[in-house]
Amino acid sequence: MNHDVDVVVIGGGISGSCIAKALADKQWETALIDRRTFPRHKVCGEFLSPEAKSTLHALGLTETVVSLHPKRIERARLIFEQGGEIELPLPGAAWGLSRYMMDEALHTAATQTGAQLHLATTVTGIEQQGKSYTVRTKQGTDTKLFHARAVIAAWGANSRIENAGHRPDAAASRQQAYIGVKTHYSGLKMEPVLEMYFFHGGYLGLCPVEDGSVNAAALLNRSEFVKAGKSVLSILEAAIQRNRRLAERLATAVPVHDTQAAVAPVYLQHKPSPWNGLPRVGDAAATIAPLCGDGMSMALRSAALCAPLADGFLRGSVSLVEWEQCYTQAIRQEFASPLRWGSLLQWLMSKPTVQQLLPSAARFAPLLANDLFRATRLKPLEPLEF
Ligand SMILES: Cc1cc2nc3c(=O)[nH]c(=O)nc-3n(C[C@H](O)[C@H](O)[C@H](O)COP(=O)(O)OP(=O)(O)OC[C@H]3O[C@@H](n4cnc5c(N)ncnc54)[C@H](O)[C@@H]3O)c2cc1C
Repeated sequence: MNHDVDVVVIGGGISGSCIAKALADKQWETALIDRRTFPRHKVCGEFLSPEAKSTLHALGLTETVVSLHPKRIERARLIFEQGGEIELPLPGAAWGLSRYMMDEALHTAATQTGAQLHLATTVTGIEQQGKSYTVRTKQGTDTKLFHARAVIAAWGANSRIENAGHRPDAAASRQQAYIGVKTHYSGLKMEPVLEMYFFHGGYLGLCPVEDGSVNAAALLNRSEFVKAGKSVLSILEAAIQRNRRLAERLATAVPVHDTQAAVAPVYLQHKPSPWNGLPRVGDAAATIAPLCGDGMSMALRSAALCAPLADGFLRGSVSLVEWEQCYTQAIRQEFASPLRWGSLLQWLMSKPTVQQLLPSAARFAPLLANDLFRATRLKPLEPLEF
């Protein structure tokens, strides 16, 4: 079956849904494609940072998110393997919201503005013919072709799609590989605080979410946890036992049935890559260290930066080259510094000596730890002029 549209967005996570909504808002025929069915649980700390709010507002999505009753979070507490802790104020209130609820609500917002949603549909290839693209997909045994004037890659950090302009990322094989795992727990009392537990080989965050349960998400060195078992809960258990305070905290918590998810390998990026034959948004453009809690905010921001340029391209007022240059520059300007500081923070926090010294260093120089975390944050959204 063939579909003719103006734009295909590959990936119906946060960045894909948001850019699909923005383009459908401008009356473009937009196909939003995801290989999964929704709602689904996804590996994520489910901490929506304060910096996300201005972008949600610009995208017209504040009401969508507020209507899901996210939990308010005011502070972050870092708890180390040796027992020390630091408490950091957040630059504003953050939200705890499950991806199960949020991603489906964003799909609804996109379809209500007219985007077509194609779930359980895997993109298997992209071909460019002159000024148009053919996107090949598989839904079960059916092949569907989408013909479009523009294609936007919102496929997250773990996709392997062939496309003509794509150059494989040779650096990935040399990087540290991580495993991400998550579950929801019931039976835990939480203050309005994000709790981050550090231990040898990784860290785990506890974040209260809208239905009163608590999301636990961990990022772990793959090499260290490869023998921890095959189930998400056995991997999580191995991680939990590495921090005594975490083990005590979760002693009476009960994993919520069917909320577990895993992802591997996860590679973090030191530099953004917003264009590689195609415009990329979200994690496809930049994967920041999850301990910064800013990945969703960056996914939203990249969609907000890319959408007006995509609209200009479809209208004919912006060429493909101008789109690439302007978008690449905007992403570098906004993301390069948080990514760099995020990598540094990830590296520092993996060092046992840093974990040991940080609580006393933070007592003597409280602004130091604060400034380091602040350096990983996005600046408030400014409208893009072009
Ligand atoms: C352990 C961990 C903890 C994290 N914690 C936080 C946190 O607390 N706060 C925060 O802000 N960020 C956090 N993040 C990061 C955050 O989850 C991501 O930055 C965010 O999900 C990126 O959104 P996205 O839209 O780019 O990609 P995704 O949400 O990953 O969406 C990509 C979509 O593309 C689809 N797709 C891929 N390939 C294809 C294909 N071939 N065909 C069709 N569809 C395809 C996938 O099914 C997926 O739904 C965390 C990440 C990890 C690993």
